[in-house]
Amino acid sequence: MMTFIQIVYFITAVFFIIGLKQMSHPSTAKRGIVWAGYAMLAAVIVTFAWPGLSNFFLIILGILIGGGAAWVIAKKVAMTDMPQMVAIYNGMGGGAAGAIAAVELLRHVGGHGEMTMGLLVLALIGGLIGAISFSGSMVAFAKLQGLINSRAVTFPMQQPINMAVLALALVFALMYLFGLQNTAVVTWFFLLTLLFGVMMTIPIGGGDMPVVISLYNAFTGLAVAFEGFAIGNPAMIIAGTVVGAAGTLLTLLMAKAMNRSIYSVLFGAFGAVEQEGGEIAGSLKPMDPEDAASVMAFANKVIIVPGYGMAVAQAQQKVKELMEELEKRGVEVKFAVHPVAGRMPGHMNVLLAEAGIPYEKLYDLEEINPDFETADVALVIGANDVVNPAARRKGSPLYGMPILDVDKAKQVFVLKRGRGKGFAGIENELFYADNTNMVYGDAADSLNKMVQAIKNL
Ligand code: NDP
Repeated sequence: MMTFIQIVYFITAVFFIIGLKQMSHPSTAKRGIVWAGYAMLAAVIVTFAWPGLSNFFLIILGILIGGGAAWVIAKKVAMTDMPQMVAIYNGMGGGAAGAIAAVELLRHVGGHGEMTMGLLVLALIGGLIGAISFSGSMVAFAKLQGLINSRAVTFPMQQPINMAVLALALVFALMYLFGLQNTAVVTWFFLLTLLFGVMMTIPIGGGDMPVVISLYNAFTGLAVAFEGFAIGNPAMIIAGTVVGAAGTLLTLLMAKAMNRSIYSVLFGAFGAVEQEGGEIAGSLKPMDPEDAASVMAFANKVIIVPGYGMAVAQAQQKVKELMEELEKRGVEVKFAVHPVAGRMPGHMNVLLAEAGIPYEKLYDLEEINPDFETADVALVIGANDVVNPAARRKGSPLYGMPILDVDKAKQVFVLKRGRGKGFAGIENELFYADNTNMVYGDAADSLNKMVQAIKNL
């Protein structure tokens, strides 16, 4: 039976890796998720055949409660709430790994487990990382959901205090390893690691949460892999390693796209205070959606730049209608997708794909930037920071972040509701430029008016 289980685990691992490969391209991503999901289902089912497994009722009850809640929430969640959903699911993964560690460490206390020193070390490391990922992800969830203030919370001596909490947790881990194996030591170890997860996350601003969530995702993967070693489960080792590696790469990619170091995300307390912009020359020039539409209808090339506001307005379907109306009139339409537009990686790609906009029309930053000079119109839909020319200027909080060069287009139309700032909290001089007009209103409404205006031409 064990051989059969191991073979199924091996096939499962292969499917995880194929699934992950497919997730790297939007056209195959959905299939990749489904394949990985079925593989996980197979791994869960075959685990019931594990020799000596008991407590079937409790296991099935747990699966039904967890699986049922996840099913309902996933069906209901809005795309804009996706980051906090990922945070809570990911946190649960870390919590599960931490719980496995706790059970194994306590079993050992009770003299039931047969763990060598090496395995105990692995269980403790997995428990530490998993518990931090759990409590940190819960704080990230609470910040993004607005349950607590999303601003970075700082206080004097914060980092030394945090380090002291971590050091104390490690002291309890060492006490356990070197003989003091009792329930109180295990309890203190987990309480301190959970506290450290909370304290590590509160000084991070809400806008940085997607990067942090991705980092905790990597932590969860590692924790699962460590616990896989501790309890001798190869499926957990492989799945955990894959998640750990993918999460680490994603975290690095996000930080690179924002041109910020992981250190500054974790310890920079970005967003602790409102960022102030300097005086900007020029004026804001409002324009009706209908007038902007007629300019686009007679253009040769229009580049559409979606941002977080498009996600808030859920305007992706209207964007597609606008694209179709323009194309009917012979206008070339392209989409410029910044790697950190929106609030999570791939946010715009997912929304545009959901609306059925062909993937070939989506261009990334390096591909599209040379195109703006030859574009008649750059249509900015709820994007702000990713088109802010301040990023080119030293001293700006955005300095160094690669941006889309929309200001080089002949004409720029910006769809937004009012004078709201972007995530970085700074003014955008693009909005004041001579070639920019502001189309105020909810992006979905403005786009609707634009589509109607073009149809009526
Ligand atoms: P921003 O957050 O900079 O700006 C969004 C703009 O959308 C706001 O200025 C707002 O203005 C407007 N808006 C909001 N709601 C609507 C609506 N209903 N209709 C029209 N406009 C609306 O978005 P960007 O996409 O340009 O930038 C993303 C930012 O998030 C970057 O700073 C990035 O670094 C950060 N970030 C991204 C991550 C990612 O993985 N994608 C991860 C972490 C951070 P107004 O209120 O006036 O309408």
